[in-house]
Parts: sequence; structure tokens; C-alpha cells
Amino acid sequence: MSKKSRKVVAGEYDVVIVGGGVGGITVGVFTSRYGLSTLILDRGRSSLGRIAHLENFPGFPGGIDTPTFQKLLHAQAERVGCEITREKAVEATQTEDGFRIETETGDEYATESLVAAAKYGREWLETLDEGEFLGDDGGVDINWEEHKRYGRTSVDGLYFAGRLGTAEDQAVVAAGQAGETALGLIHDVRRDEGLPEDLATHYTDWVFVEGSVIDGDWEAHVRKEFPERVGDADLSEARFDELQSQYVERKVEQAISPSEQRKRRRDGHRHLVEHIDDDAVLERAEEIKTERSSGLDDERQ
Ligand SMILES: Cc1cc2nc3c(=O)[nH]c(=O)nc-3n(C[C@H](O)[C@H](O)[C@H](O)COP(=O)(O)OP(=O)(O)OC[C@H]3O[C@@H](n4cnc5c(N)ncnc54)[C@H](O)[C@@H]3O)c2cc1C
Repeated sequence: MSKKSRKVVAGEYDVVIVGGGVGGITVGVFTSRYGLSTLILDRGRSSLGRIAHLENFPGFPGGIDTPTFQKLLHAQAERVGCEITREKAVEATQTEDGFRIETETGDEYATESLVAAAKYGREWLETLDEGEFLGDDGGVDINWEEHKRYGRTSVDGLYFAGRLGTAEDQAVVAAGQAGETALGLIHDVRRDEGLPEDLATHYTDWVFVEGSVIDGDWEAHVRKEFPERVGDADLSEARFDELQSQYVERKVEQAISPSEQRKRRRDGHRHLVEHIDDDAVLERAEEIKTERSSGLDDERQ
């Protein structure tokens, strides 16, 4: 028995992502919200860590320091169910069911889908390489003209994400590309689950207030539109009913009540505050107290 086959698998996942920067985390948030068990390995050279102050990522009026940004990214991924481990991937092998990925500490993880989301730390791809990933010189050149959409590669179940999946070196582009990779991966999983093609690729991760998309009964609406989603796929009555129930259930979950919206707003703000520098929070709290006691706050509203 070889040394490798004696190794104990430390965990089995639907998806393992190598890289916990903005790219890897974006993929993890989507795959985990879809319900796929997701592990993110994150250790090694980071582009994000080299940014002095991130000033062009939408949503941060004063920019954001990258340690805080990284904490927010990781907190979001963990909150939706991703596991994150501070381990560095060093080798990957293909198996009958997908891949095994080995880390520097000798742990091995099994996964059906594998996402490469670390451009500067992708030597572990070498064993899966078919001339596509590492370039002739073992460097970082990828032929972008031939690069596949949705982060897919010539190896089934292996995807690129983030800076590794795009020729443009900006954080927001890395995040956008990674979102596309996540959707491609989810479409592929849905195909593997035997969903008809149109239904497999009809997937949106949305949350909205009930009544805001259509007037009337949302559940009845999505139940009625379901036949369009399966087109002329040849399904037994039982399979049709099963897929329709899943479809309706998922769509109904996306519609939340106004009170749930208010609750999520409060929770969202609370989570943000947890990651902001305490001194900045206290300083602002003092200002708010002063504004409130002088009535300034009322005028502003
Ligand atoms: C000096 C510099 C300044 C920049 N300034 C800006 C800027 O101001 N604005 C902007 O939009 N973009 C900027 N960029 C570009 C931006 O940093 C990248 O586009 C973006 O961070 C890419 O995100 P990513 O998730 O793909 O990769 P990364 O941010 O590199 O994340 C990869 C992650 O994977 C981990 N990792 C690496 N190897 C392994 C491994 N083998 N196993 C497990 N984990 C691994 C790393 O620790 C890291 O956390 C700058 C880049 C540099 C180098």
C-alpha cells in the first residue's frame, strides 16, 4: 500500500476552494447558500493583503483597509455555512468521485468540485495540469483567448475563480468573475442532479420582499410558470411533481416579509459593527449621543 493511500481523509465536501481572497470567498458564499458543503483553504501569498487601502471596491465610501475587508469576507462565508481553514494546498489528485487535495500539514480533503482561487499559489495544480494551467515555464500565463466562461476548465469539476479566472487585476473584477464561476459550478451540479437543461441553468440567488415582484400570490405564480422552465423535457409525472415542489420551495424562500426584512437589516448592521474598529464605533456613538441630546438627529431624519 502506498504512503498516499494510507492517509486518512480529514473531510469530504461537495466543494473545496483553494484561496480565501475576494474570489474564493465569493464562490463559497454562493455554493454554500445553494446548499453545497464548502471548505475554503486559505494560506499563502495574497494579492488582497498587498493593497494599502482598497478605495475602488463599491460600497465603502471611505475605502476599506484590507485586514478588515478580509475579516468581513470570512465572517460572511462562515455565516452562510462555509468552513475556512488556514491551510495551504500543495497537491491535488483526481479520483473516481472528484478530487483529493493535500495541504502542507499533510491533511487530505476529498471533494466533488475543486475551485482554484489563488493565482499566486497554484503550484498544486501541476498534477492536474494538461498544459492549460501553469504555462510552459511553470509561470502564471493563461491563454485568455481560449479561457472558458464560467471558470470551467478542461478537467471536469475543476474551476478557476478570482484573479486566476480573469485577465484584469482589480478586486471587483475578481469578485465578479468568481460569481460567474460559482453559478457555472451550481449549473453543473444541477445538471448532474438530472435537472432538465433549462431548469439546471435557471438559478438566481435573490432575496426580495413578497409582493414586490408581482401583484398577487407569489407561490401560485411560480407554480404556474414551472412548466415553462422544464420546456419539452421528457419527465415522468412523479419527477415533474418532485422538481416542481423543489422549484416552488426555493422560490418561496426568496420572498421575505417586511418584518423579516427589518430584522435582517438590524442583523446586517450589527454584523458590520462587530468588524469595525471599536474606537471608531465608540467615537461615533459619542457623536450620536450628542446629536440626539441636542435634537440634531431629529432634524436630519
Ligand atoms: C500591490 C497590489 C496592489 C493592488 N491594489 C489594488 C487596488 O487598490 N484595487 C483593486 O481593485 N485591486 C488591487 N490589486 C489587485 C487585487 O489585489 C486582486 O485583483 C484581488 O485581490 C484578487 O483576488 P483573489 O481572491 O483572486 O486573490 P488573492 O487576493 O490573492 O487571494 C488569494 C488567497 O489565497 C490564499 N492562497 C494562496 N495560495 C494558496 C494555497 N496554495 N492554498 C491555500 N490558499 C492559498 C492567499 O493567502 C489569499 O488569501 C492590487 C494588487 C497588488 C499586488
